[in-house]
Amino acid sequence: MTEREVRVRFAPSPTGPLHIGGVRTALYNYLLARKLGGKMLLRIEDTDQNRFVPGAEEYILEALAWCGIVIDEGQGVGGPHGPYKQSERKPMYKQYADQLIADGHAYYAFDTAEELDAMRARLQAAKVPNPQYNSITRAQMRNSLTLPEDEVKALLDGGAQYVIRLKVPRKEEVRFQDLIRGWVVVHSSAIDDKVLMKSDGMPTYHLANIVDDHLMEISHVIRGEEWLPSAPLHVLLYRYLGWEKTMPQFAHLPLLLKPDGTGKLSKRDGDRLGFPVFPLEWHGTDADTGEATISRGYREDGYLPEALVNFLAFLGWNPGTQQEIFSMDELIQAFSIERVSKSPAKFDQNKVKWFNEHYLRAKSNAELAPYLLDALHEHAIVGSQEKAEQIVGVMKERVSFPKDFWQEAKYFFQAPTEYDEAVVSKKWNAPVATALTAYAEALPGAPEVSAEGLKTLFNDTMAAQGLKPGQVLQALRVAVTGAAAGPDLFETLVILGVSEVAERLRGAVATLHTA
Ligand code: GLU
Repeated sequence: MTEREVRVRFAPSPTGPLHIGGVRTALYNYLLARKLGGKMLLRIEDTDQNRFVPGAEEYILEALAWCGIVIDEGQGVGGPHGPYKQSERKPMYKQYADQLIADGHAYYAFDTAEELDAMRARLQAAKVPNPQYNSITRAQMRNSLTLPEDEVKALLDGGAQYVIRLKVPRKEEVRFQDLIRGWVVVHSSAIDDKVLMKSDGMPTYHLANIVDDHLMEISHVIRGEEWLPSAPLHVLLYRYLGWEKTMPQFAHLPLLLKPDGTGKLSKRDGDRLGFPVFPLEWHGTDADTGEATISRGYREDGYLPEALVNFLAFLGWNPGTQQEIFSMDELIQAFSIERVSKSPAKFDQNKVKWFNEHYLRAKSNAELAPYLLDALHEHAIVGSQEKAEQIVGVMKERVSFPKDFWQEAKYFFQAPTEYDEAVVSKKWNAPVATALTAYAEALPGAPEVSAEGLKTLFNDTMAAQGLKPGQVLQALRVAVTGAAAGPDLFETLVILGVSEVAERLRGAVATLHTA
């Protein structure tokens, strides 16, 4: 027997921006596909037209591309099993629902919304905790199992509204092996007679998902834990449709928890806790007030995609070694479903920042310079690539995000107008001001404009003034940059240039009063 081709799919519903939990699902699918030499598919599950949000599909495609998750087949790419958007596949599903009815595994249900509400109310009054349309309650409802055949026919011919429901057996154990959780056993009494086709002729998620996974020859279904309760129903569908032999293997990924571990990380947590939960910024509307809203995105907040990917890979998986830094290619090499954990993973915003710092610092000065040059451009400041490279070179150990380059380094382009007060009050005094004036005078004639050269000149000048360098260093930094801390001070002076430094020193002496 030849080995089955590995074909995985990411199957989001376009109901809003893709949550980072969804990005992790896509990533694990992608890693497995690449690792096993298989294909990664993208299918858009938009059977629930009420929840459709314009722009969501484009967002999904853009977010995946930004993360470097490459789709081999599917929406936006094409392929032999298209269309890859369920609303465009609408005519394909009905025959399978009909087949299930013909084989006695599904039935027509004509109940109105009021009748369904009444059923639930009746069951609640009888203290049934979770009222369901199932093997017991269906006997009291209006469906093709309870109504006489001729009445059913008349209703159908007369164009009555109906749904098609799965006939879930009363007493049966449904079992399947999950690649992460091992054997999952659910009793059929816990499964309700789910709707497969809605009255508008659209399939529900359950039917469309199974039909498509079958037709698209999916070998592994890797998805979030929230879908675990649906899996037994899906197993029944595979069985009743006669597709059990080629049923995909299931792997349900662990939940992502809030940073404090209290419950699932939700779409709203980002705003509340101050970090993005979406890969890209999203412009939406508030469901209650209708007001325009903006949700933060990792991209716009200055995260590098490789940092987000590395971070997400570790939310539920680990390589079993101490290594934490993994490029996408390294993740592909190291990834295995066996090492995905079943216990939930806590979101850690400090860790994603840590990854970002790593990837930022790993970039060459030439790659980082454009971040600073862009900010300069925005502030109508002219800066050369060469100078930008020098600055990001001394700054990169001190920043977490690209935008920090400008924030932390603007004094390279603008003389300070304010001086760190704490340093001024502690370190600024008349002898220091005099010594810095002497340094300003000496600078243009510096024998060597290098960090070492300017440092030697500084030490010599201070000695001539009867001061120790340590008494003046912080004042020098504040006078030149305005800030109490920064990168190597003499490197900073070299980048600024001796005449600019001299001018700034004179400016500080004129501005700052001495006691
Ligand atoms: N459309 C489902 C979702 O939005 C897909 C679940 C699955 O992968 O089966 O997550």
